[in-house]
Amino acid sequence: MTPDRRAERVAALRAELGAEALAALLVAHPANVRYLTGFSGSAGLLLVTADAVVLVTDSRYATQAAEEAGGIARVVVAGAGLLDALLDQPEADQALAPVGFEDHVLSVRQAARLTGTTPDGRFRRAGELVERLRAVKAPEEIAAVAEAGRVAGEALAAVLPQIRVGQSELHVAGVLEAALRRSGSEEHPFPTIVASGPRTALPHAGPSARRIAAGEWLLLDFGAQVDGYCADVTRTYVVGAPPDGRQAEVYAVVRQAQAAALAGLRAGMTGRAGDALARERIAAAGLGDAFGHSLGHGLGLEVHEAPRVSRVSEEPLPAGAVVTVEPGVYLPGWGGVRIEDDVALGHEGATLLTDIPRELVVLG
Ligand code: ZN
Ligand code: ZN
Repeated sequence: MTPDRRAERVAALRAELGAEALAALLVAHPANVRYLTGFSGSAGLLLVTADAVVLVTDSRYATQAAEEAGGIARVVVAGAGLLDALLDQPEADQALAPVGFEDHVLSVRQAARLTGTTPDGRFRRAGELVERLRAVKAPEEIAAVAEAGRVAGEALAAVLPQIRVGQSELHVAGVLEAALRRSGSEEHPFPTIVASGPRTALPHAGPSARRIAAGEWLLLDFGAQVDGYCADVTRTYVVGAPPDGRQAEVYAVVRQAQAAALAGLRAGMTGRAGDALARERIAAAGLGDAFGHSLGHGLGLEVHEAPRVSRVSEEPLPAGAVVTVEPGVYLPGWGGVRIEDDVALGHEGATLLTDIPRELVVLG
């Protein structure tokens, strides 16, 4: 039985509200609503005040919201607009001020509805208060990511022996997505990336009808989800023929860069310092310009969340953060290699949550 952290999380949010001199927070982001209440539906608005938690949803979710969030929130089923319904609740009384809102989530129209009707500044942009709490995971959240990582590895192991020269990227994506479901993934937390040949140089290529030719790269970047928590892994293979010298060389650079980051990453270092662990290795091999993206991102109820392991992040990485470690080298017209794993950060180092072989394997 996993512990019920909701009251603890709401209390932590109230402490944040106190520090920000806010009387309440209007929570609109579905992942934040889920974190605080357990409600996993797509339509929900939450108001957290000093002594109340009110969740407004629509009739599709009446039963689900009562079951999932009834223990922590007063659940209101709204007939029409959720925002107007929430503002009509007694807990949202005019005297409640200032009320923070998630300006990174609300639509321009919703934000104008809040600020336009109350020129006295009753509603105020609050930024990513709940995301800041979510960046530090409890042990059972880390365990859920690890379980999603296990599911991802099991699905991949079932698919690799089936991959052949001549199959399309879409075919491989279909086989992989079916295997993920069969292994227990609740959903695909992001669109599966399957790229072959020169298309592997596009870091976010969606699968196409292109067929894999002998000796080409095949890059698979995919996720699994367990109890709402995501794993995000990438492996790159060659298909139908042994790697040529350049392929072996580039793969070794990426693998060594990832190994250096896995060995060196720890809580307390800045995102920039973490990113540099891999970036310096890739730059030393003369491929610095071919690694355009960040080393990693936080992972949890969302596949991209705080903290960032990036060149521009001067924030220290907190203990209990779960992040990806995903160096890549992309050479337009030739192809690309990325290797991605998920880790939990402690002050002593990083603990791997995904356990999938990293050797350069020839498929087919
Ligand atoms: Zn990924
Ligand atoms: Zn990723």
